[in-house]
Amino acid sequence: MSLVSLSSFYTLHLIMNIPILDLKRARLRIASALEARWARILEENSYILGPEVRELEKGFADFLELPACVGLANGTDALILALRALGMKPGDEVIVPAFSFFATAEAVAWLGGTPVFADVDPETLNLDPADAAARVTARTVGLIGVHLYGRPFDVDAILALCDKKGLWLLEDAAQAHGARWKGRRVGGFGRLAAWSFYPTKNLGCFGDGGAVTSQDADLVRQVFLLANHGQTSRYHHTLVGVNSRLDSLQAAVLNCRLPFLEQDNARRRELACRYTGGLQGVGDIRLIPDPEGATCVYHQMTIRTARRDALMEHLKTLGIASSVHYPSTLDRQPALEGLVTVREGDFPVATAAAQEVLCLPMYPELTDEEVEQVCAGVRSFYLSA
Ligand SMILES: *Cc1c(COP(=O)(O)O)cnc(C)c1O
Repeated sequence: MSLVSLSSFYTLHLIMNIPILDLKRARLRIASALEARWARILEENSYILGPEVRELEKGFADFLELPACVGLANGTDALILALRALGMKPGDEVIVPAFSFFATAEAVAWLGGTPVFADVDPETLNLDPADAAARVTARTVGLIGVHLYGRPFDVDAILALCDKKGLWLLEDAAQAHGARWKGRRVGGFGRLAAWSFYPTKNLGCFGDGGAVTSQDADLVRQVFLLANHGQTSRYHHTLVGVNSRLDSLQAAVLNCRLPFLEQDNARRRELACRYTGGLQGVGDIRLIPDPEGATCVYHQMTIRTARRDALMEHLKTLGIASSVHYPSTLDRQPALEGLVTVREGDFPVATAAAQEVLCLPMYPELTDEEVEQVCAGVRSFYLSA
């Protein structure tokens, strides 16, 4: 028996327990610092718009090398309020990748706009600039690019398209805290960028949270106004807005975790390297290459295989969790029926991706040995089949 098949033989008879995500160790790391911050918030009753929120906004803007950030209640509101600040009106068309989390399209539809889907690139699974260009009409006002799985989309090509057609760009950066494109952090390329601090994101809190960032501090101030009842001074409202503020208790969690973000992302890249070493050339597995000039932050470790569902089942029997982000293209979501036209054969790349992608365990606390075990588990699938 060769070494490889011997180790595969072993894993087949060993039930492991590798969860898709383990937030416990991240929580323990900040426990005492967080307790002190929370105690101060309770002492000072600074629950809403307190110093913790200001510290997070300043800290996250500094981290991104940007002048402005506003904390919000969640990433979906970040998208919605960014679209409103950009002046999107009912009936406007916004180009959105067909392969993303629902919120990217939902935000447009919630404001009465029409999400116009574009296919993704076969290599990167991010917005395909050529297909996006082909979907522009006289009603198109802007474009939402998603840095999917923590991998920057082709910022240069998308910005060139926006310039040429007179469109704004909104970055959906909910999966890409700290990623870089040609040396610069994502989140400052579009007119605005929307962030989520949902617990599973690269920078996550212990509940819901979000933010908007930009090079344009006035536009960020506009988002803050919209998120705080359009209130310019106490009980004086110049805009009809909503209540979508970031909570101080959640901001405190983020203030504790932000100092670890850079090293956590580096660890994710290290783990991704190990996965690549362990899975390259195995069966029909395809890995997603890092785009030239991009620093990816591996929100997900995504592989592609035609036998996705069977592989997932196999890993499950070994005690290895995996997940599918996302099992369907956005144009097929029942909620959008009547708003978008579903055409057979549209979005061939996104459609194939929805059938092929599988996300393996990926978090900074994962050990090298666990990655080896996952890789051995994947290899054993192809040996046993
Ligand atoms: C998580 C996520 C969102 C939404 O963020 P919430 O904070 O959950 O509202 C939007 N877009 C993408 C791509 C996401 O991954």
